[in-house]
Amino acid sequence: MSVEYALHGAVAVITFNNPPVNGLGLATRSAAVDGIRRAQQDPQVKAIVLTGAGKVFSGGADIREFNSPKALTEPTLHTLIRTAEESVKPVVAAIHGVCMGGGLELALGCHYRVALPGAQVALPEVKLGLLPGAGGTQRLPRALGLEPALDMIVSGNPVLSEKLPALFDEVFAAGTDLVAAAVAFAESIGDARPLPKVRDRQAGHADAGAFLQAARTQVAAAAGPFPAPLECVETVAAAVTMPFEQGLAFERERFMHLIRTPESRALRHAFFAEREAAKVPGISADTPRRPVERAAVVGAGTMGGGIAMAFAKAGIPVTLVESSTEALDKGMTAIRAHYEGAAAKGKLAPALVAQRMALVAGTVNFADIAAADIVVEAVFEDMDVKEAVFRQLDDVMKPGAILATNTSTLDVDRLAAATGRPQDVIGTHFFSPAHVMKLLEIVRGHATGSDVLATVLALAKRLKKTGVVSGVCDGFIGNRMIEQYVRQAGFLLDEGCTPAQVDGALERFGFAMGPFRMSDLAGNDIGWAIRKRRAAERPDFAYSKTADLLCEIGRFGQKSGAGWYDYRPGDRTPQPSAEVEELITTHSRELGIERRQIGDAEIVERLVYALVNEGARILEEGIALRASDIDMVYLTGYGFPLFRGGPMFHADTVGLPAVLAAIERFAAGRHGDAWQPAPLLARLAAEGKGFNQR
Ligand code: NAD
Repeated sequence: MSVEYALHGAVAVITFNNPPVNGLGLATRSAAVDGIRRAQQDPQVKAIVLTGAGKVFSGGADIREFNSPKALTEPTLHTLIRTAEESVKPVVAAIHGVCMGGGLELALGCHYRVALPGAQVALPEVKLGLLPGAGGTQRLPRALGLEPALDMIVSGNPVLSEKLPALFDEVFAAGTDLVAAAVAFAESIGDARPLPKVRDRQAGHADAGAFLQAARTQVAAAAGPFPAPLECVETVAAAVTMPFEQGLAFERERFMHLIRTPESRALRHAFFAEREAAKVPGISADTPRRPVERAAVVGAGTMGGGIAMAFAKAGIPVTLVESSTEALDKGMTAIRAHYEGAAAKGKLAPALVAQRMALVAGTVNFADIAAADIVVEAVFEDMDVKEAVFRQLDDVMKPGAILATNTSTLDVDRLAAATGRPQDVIGTHFFSPAHVMKLLEIVRGHATGSDVLATVLALAKRLKKTGVVSGVCDGFIGNRMIEQYVRQAGFLLDEGCTPAQVDGALERFGFAMGPFRMSDLAGNDIGWAIRKRRAAERPDFAYSKTADLLCEIGRFGQKSGAGWYDYRPGDRTPQPSAEVEELITTHSRELGIERRQIGDAEIVERLVYALVNEGARILEEGIALRASDIDMVYLTGYGFPLFRGGPMFHADTVGLPAVLAAIERFAAGRHGDAWQPAPLLARLAAEGKGFNQR
């Protein structure tokens, strides 16, 4: 039963029961409408209470019905709200826990609202590139006043029920029995007429015109490429400028417009992609998990320190192991300095500095970490060094400990083979800075136990990260693709671009940072070391030598004060460098290339389609479970523009035949061997399908 109906004396109590959040799916809406009608016809009933079973009133639309015709099948949410609003007997919404989206729109259609304190109240549609489409933009301003309503609708952020006295007829004391109190309230107003309706009120503001004009300017500046926030302002404005029914029609029209925009499609894709990524074949709620109470990290460098802070942030005690006391002291000092800096900037409560530091211990003795439930290795990116560390871990760690590696590119199966317990070995590829970045690429080795994988997936959640599972290959999902992207960026330099031109084109496309600025930030020597290894493994792998030439003259990036760009002391703003431009043009000359003007469109297509083509191979090989996992990796780890939904979703939006045609064009040009179309891309293009609709 998705809705329960019960009589409490003269009050009918209709309870949504559609776990996990009482989503207002078709069956629930239908049963709720039937319940309200039944109560109208029952002469015994004086008033109706709508409430939610479990911990919440309602989280709004049932996400399982997104993109399905069920969402538009009668009774729609709109019909349910009308049924409540037009009821001749008073309807009271009794709210606790969560009252969001359609749940709040329904509550606004009720004659009365009562709540427990602590309930999260929100209209979060803007976060999916939409606006509240069931009267929320017209009723909330009438209930709350223009300004607070606009804030809630444009931000989508939740507000606690006790902070919204204008919305509620009564907020009970904490611990009150909600249904009993709501029934008593319903009895007390059972005979009062006329029935109050939010729609009959005015959306108050002393100077609505000026306020809305200021809001338009401010919201437009903050919204970036997303159209929804400004559409929210316009529909909320209609609550002031139009009669209710006309405002409702306007809201409907703008909602239907937004739902078709690529930006909203991208946001909804990302929303579902995040949920999908957590679903891994062979792993279920019944898969056993190992306890993770204590962690250890080997190597207190850039990544090791960040990973330790990620554990501490989640309240998990962690011990860092280093090879020398100097390195350990340096690592521990960096962590303390980070916390103190964050506290000085007001980003961390001062009390938390000591609390976090108390969770981070350091040692140079591997025996001290023997009791940890998980150890993450973050030493130099060198197979011999890492193998030695894994042999050592195999010797000291307790049975059942998870042995994880933070390697960016190396073979997790080889590391597993260095131990006598390959089932316990897994890759946990954090992104820098590890305590901030959301992505955790989880590398499942051939022997990795399903309980180990399930444990690390759950750990990702505890660390508030998006875990995405990858198979074993050189670079896994993210770095294997980025290599092709960086490779094209290098070729563009040889053919006629400057670093600033390439970065500018990618940043206008929406990337947070272009490839050369990114490389200056991460350190150009990291790629250099990887290329040296590759040169031995794959001597025929063509790439622009400019990056090597840059490192040979010591331009390692921001850390050495110079990289692809020049940096003034204490200033991270990249300045074009005459030395680098000279290096690039000389190299072109040596290659016999006549430099040419290259426009933004070609720059973007070459870099982004290089990602897409490699992504298609990764998908076909089963390294990624689904296209949306690849998108998640790029959205959460590589600064791919969210409004484009990730590389594979972007390719679907452009249309695979057009992507394929561009790739075939590049294949006929210089370095055509880098552009052999992935068979999966060619097949899907021919079948008229997309990566996300196979
Ligand atoms: P780093 O050079 O900053 O730190 C490595 C640390 O490991 C050093 O402090 C070193 O003293 C210590 N170490 C070396 N051998 C050791 C041993 N046998 N026992 C204990 N400690 C030892 O390197 P990093 O940038 O933190 O990278 C570490 C790992 O993380 C590498 O595998 C790298 O590929 C990977 N990674 C780096 C990044 C990044 O952006 N820097 C991102 C993701 C993954």
